[in-house]
Amino acid sequence: MDKQEVQERIEKLKDKIRELNYQYFILNRSEVSEAVRDSLKLELKQLEERFPEFITPDSPTQRVGAPLSGKFDKVTHITAKKSLADVFSYEEVEEWEEKISRMLPGSENKIHYLCELKIDGLNVTLHYRKGMLVRAVTRGDGVQGEDVTHTVRTIEAVPLKLNEEIDLEVNGEIYINKEDFRRVNEAQLAKGEEEFENPRNLAAGTVRQLDPKVAAARKMSAFFYEIQQTDMEAVPRQQQHALERMMDLGLPVETHYRYCEDIDDVKRFLDHAAELRDQLPFEIDGVVIKVNEKAQQQVLGFTAKTPRFAVAYKFPAEQSTTRVLDIHVQVGRTGALTPVAVLSPVRVAGSTISRATLHNEDEMKRKDVRIGDTVVIQKAGDVIPEIVQVLTDLRTGKEKEFKFPGRCPVCESKVEKKEGEAVLRCTNPDCFAQDRERFIHFATVMNIDGLGEKVIDALLEAQLVDEIPDLFHLTRNDLLQLPFFKERKSDKLIEAIQKAKTIGLERFLFALGIRHVGEETAIDLADYFRQEQMQKERTQPTDGVETTHSGLKDIHALLILVQEMKRDKLQEVEGFGTVVSEQIMDWFENERSIALLKKLADCGIEFIEEEKPLSLRLKGMTFVVTGTLQSLSRDQIKERIRQNGGKVVSAVTRKTSFLLLGENDKATTKEKTAKKLGVKVIGEDEFLKMIEL
Ligand code: ZN
Repeated sequence: MDKQEVQERIEKLKDKIRELNYQYFILNRSEVSEAVRDSLKLELKQLEERFPEFITPDSPTQRVGAPLSGKFDKVTHITAKKSLADVFSYEEVEEWEEKISRMLPGSENKIHYLCELKIDGLNVTLHYRKGMLVRAVTRGDGVQGEDVTHTVRTIEAVPLKLNEEIDLEVNGEIYINKEDFRRVNEAQLAKGEEEFENPRNLAAGTVRQLDPKVAAARKMSAFFYEIQQTDMEAVPRQQQHALERMMDLGLPVETHYRYCEDIDDVKRFLDHAAELRDQLPFEIDGVVIKVNEKAQQQVLGFTAKTPRFAVAYKFPAEQSTTRVLDIHVQVGRTGALTPVAVLSPVRVAGSTISRATLHNEDEMKRKDVRIGDTVVIQKAGDVIPEIVQVLTDLRTGKEKEFKFPGRCPVCESKVEKKEGEAVLRCTNPDCFAQDRERFIHFATVMNIDGLGEKVIDALLEAQLVDEIPDLFHLTRNDLLQLPFFKERKSDKLIEAIQKAKTIGLERFLFALGIRHVGEETAIDLADYFRQEQMQKERTQPTDGVETTHSGLKDIHALLILVQEMKRDKLQEVEGFGTVVSEQIMDWFENERSIALLKKLADCGIEFIEEEKPLSLRLKGMTFVVTGTLQSLSRDQIKERIRQNGGKVVSAVTRKTSFLLLGENDKATTKEKTAKKLGVKVIGEDEFLKMIEL
């Protein structure tokens, strides 16, 4: 972007954010998620940092909090309300720690932290005089807020009188429980009125009602987290003590807060909070991390806009905005042509995304994605990132529509769309792109260590392999021709490939890359083939000789079995429709497939009993198992943990994620340690739920 384009972009972003802010704060509704608004704000902030000459006083980055609606009396805050800087990743938390550590050098200054859940609600400041509630003010723009005493007084969690007759100014959050949120929205619908987008909108809409009865009828609640000013004796010198002190005064405090020795401890709490999120009765959107010592807080002080001694860690957003730099067409292993948007890299749900699928031509046209567009991308869990929406307001007129190629972009063969299908496919079965994808898929599914995309590309480039069975004939000398292979590495790869010769049938079927045969289908298909084989062996004449069942041991047995099978037989498998079973049979009857299978058979592939593909449900979690368990033995439980990607250790430490406690156990030392360290203790039922399919 040249300078003029930057300036235009900044103007467009400001307009859009202003419009979204108005909807959000004044009308209490929004057309896009909050993450989208944040993401646009971040882009604006970054552009303004690079081009400070374009910062104007009216930019949404230049003020704190929300615009005033004009309905209520405006109150100037006694102490200005600065909002916290947001951080979105561990790295940013570490950067913050580095920055403040530099300002507090020396071992006597070791920083400890207090982490509090970040409640998704509306920020308010309460003023108490001689212990009596005199005023409640919204944050507003940070300098002035609105007097909402009349509605806040109706919230039962807010004490009208403190336990001590002191003057106090406290900050807190007005929120509504998830359950009550649903209830209010149901009532809104029944009245034919608009639903609230999220609990925070509802809290804002309720507190800023002129009629206090409306607020009283909705079950709002409150948590307090900061003593701003007070005349109390012995003002708490740590944030943790401030929280405890507030509770003594009768102010509700969210009690999942945790004292953290160091930043690693903080990170563990961030993970813990993310897990806690769904179990809580109220919405949280992150964790507030504060320097615990007030004296250190004072040394750190404030920047122009934010305190330095605290940051708000926001849970990874599942949506973000970015720009489409280009659109490519990829050819997959079944020949499918998939349009892929090349994006300006952006962090979504904890990972950096630079590409997003547009699925197919029709989908791309429906969403009207053009090169140069600003788009909303979404990533939830392990799902492939996708483009949800184009922000057409931000177009400049220079965006380019993408024309779908009429030929395969790799081999230039004809492409065709089968009836009833949305995708175009390359018609050339020898298409190089398909070959490459098949190799990658095979290597990934067969779990061949060291055989990644780069190595496959190099092997294909050097023409060391042409089809998959060639892999099994690779020699050390072959690999030494490749630029990045030395002897040790070559031997290791060959060993890994040879190891893949003994493999579970289900994994093998999945690795073949048959269309429609995904992981789950492969399991069903393997089960079915095994049953058929057993059936067959049972009914075979044995001439009176005792034989043991041989089962499906290798590809030869599989080939014979499939050849003898009737074409419509596969439809017996539950969940296989006509289309799926037909296409699978087509594959097995196809000459190319048979030739491939025969070659693989010659490589000596043998089938072993394999457990169901491992899930990664418990990935990154460590367990300590203790006591007598009811439904499974302790060894079985441990096996389950490992099967699901978890780790079993013997002693409870801070790093332990869960202590799994047998049902009839009395409080053990392990349990006490777990409680002390804040390690979650779970029972057998809870554990079984965690690994439930
Ligand atoms: Zn092609």
